[in-house]
Amino acid sequence: MNRSLSDVLRRVRFAFYPRRCALCGDLVEPQTEICGRCMQDLPRVPQPICFCCGSGKRECTCEKHHSPYAAAFAAPFYYTGGISRGIFRMKFRSSPQSAEMFGREMAAFARQVYPDVTIDLVTFVPMTRRERRERGYNQSELLARYTARELMLPMEPTLKKLYETARQRTLGKRERSGNVLGVFEAVDPAQIRGKRILLCDDLRTTGATMIECAKMLRIRGACEVLCLTAAVGLPKDKPKKKEESS
Ligand SMILES: [Zn+2]
Ligand SMILES: [Zn+2]
Repeated sequence: MNRSLSDVLRRVRFAFYPRRCALCGDLVEPQTEICGRCMQDLPRVPQPICFCCGSGKRECTCEKHHSPYAAAFAAPFYYTGGISRGIFRMKFRSSPQSAEMFGREMAAFARQVYPDVTIDLVTFVPMTRRERRERGYNQSELLARYTARELMLPMEPTLKKLYETARQRTLGKRERSGNVLGVFEAVDPAQIRGKRILLCDDLRTTGATMIECAKMLRIRGACEVLCLTAAVGLPKDKPKKKEESS
C-alpha cells in the first residue's frame, strides 16, 4: 500500500477509535502505547531482584522471611506514579489494553528473572462468582492470559475462592493473612499435581493473598509455585516520589 494512503487510513481509524495511554488513559498518537508523562515516571524494578519480596536487591528492606509455599516473587514495576494509574485503570475502568500491556511486561520480566525455569502452566488469583459478576471480569485472569500468550504456555484456572473476604487494602498487615486463610481451594488436584506453576496477580502488597494461593497449590500437589504480579509496593522506608505525596 502506498505510504500516504496507509497514513490516511491510520488517521481515519484513530479518529474513530482514538488510541489511549495504557496507563493513564490520555489520548496518544496512533502508534504509542504509553504517553510521555507516564513514560517519564515509569518505576521499573531494577535487577537483580530479591525473590522474597520482589523489590530490587539494593532497595529491599524485607527481612528475607521466605515463604515455604511460594518459591519466588517478581514484578516488573513498583506500584507508584504511572503504574498505579495503570493498575487503577485496568481494575476499575475495564481497560483490556492496560491488561495486555502489563501482561507483555510481566512475560518479558519472567523471562529475565526466571530464565532457566521450565513452567508448566500459568494461573491466577481467583475471585468469588459474585465478585466476578460485579466487576464483569477478573483482572488477574486477564493478566495471566496475556502473560501466558506471550510465554506460549497454557493458562488454566486452578483455584476457586470459597468465601468473600474484606478488601485486603482495608486491613493491617497482620489481619491480611488471617483474612484470606482457608479461602482458596484447588479446582482439580489432578490438573496441578507435579506441575511448576506461574501464579499471576495485579499487585503484591504484603503478599498474603498470593502466599495463601501458593499454599493451596502446593498442598494439592504442585511441585513449585512462582509468583508474578504487574506491580509490587515500594519497599518500606524508601523515600516516596514527589507525585505520590502530593
Ligand atoms: Zn499516560
Ligand atoms: Zn526483599
